[in-house]
Amino acid sequence: MSNIKDNLGKVEQQIKNACQLTNKSPTSVQLLAVSKTKPASDVALAYQAGQRLFGENYVQEGVDKIAELQALTDIQWHFIGPIQSNKTKLIAEHFDWVQSVDRVKILTRLNEQRPKHLGKLNICLQINISGEASKSGATIEQVPELIEALSSCDNLNFRGFMAIPEKGDATLSFEKMDQLFKHYQALWPTVDTLSMGMSDDMESAIANGSTMVRIGTAIFGARN
Ligand SMILES: *Cc1c(COP(=O)(O)O)cnc(C)c1O
Repeated sequence: MSNIKDNLGKVEQQIKNACQLTNKSPTSVQLLAVSKTKPASDVALAYQAGQRLFGENYVQEGVDKIAELQALTDIQWHFIGPIQSNKTKLIAEHFDWVQSVDRVKILTRLNEQRPKHLGKLNICLQINISGEASKSGATIEQVPELIEALSSCDNLNFRGFMAIPEKGDATLSFEKMDQLFKHYQALWPTVDTLSMGMSDDMESAIANGSTMVRIGTAIFGARN
């Protein structure tokens, strides 16, 4: 029947296998289904198959889908795309998590614009771990000032880190991210999330400490 349901089952099995290989509990890695460019009806099919965490990259597209699917109240929506400062209000008002924060200005705006009644907005700092000039993400050197800023943001909840390593050095980058994550996890009680691994590299990411893989293509098929 639905390819999406079958694909989801396969991805869940892949995650389980990768956890087993490295003696991790299968519940220690969460699956974020990345639905960018796909219609709300695809999200609904994944939801019917049991999926609850969804990731979107484009603000307006995400907000439209969230509105269309508002009856599915237990979906957790994650924003994972590059953030322009004039879009922070929409993100703060509609999403549950933001994984792509890489500068203080964005933190400050999200904190000011988060409606109190929605509770705290969960934040992961995106790290440009491969040091690519073209990629978004903060450098490791910028992390202390970002965390300093986060510590005075009452409407934000610091949950951890996200990275999109370059293909060539993914394993080394995953290892570096794991070190960064463990360092801050020991200092911050709310830090529990290391978001890394996509359709092509989820096994390696899990072997190197990922607690959340972000999977698009393997669930919803190729994007146009
Ligand atoms: C598109 C995207 C993904 C999913 O990538 P796939 O290769 O389709 O699994 C994961 N993370 C981010 C930040 C993305 O933009």
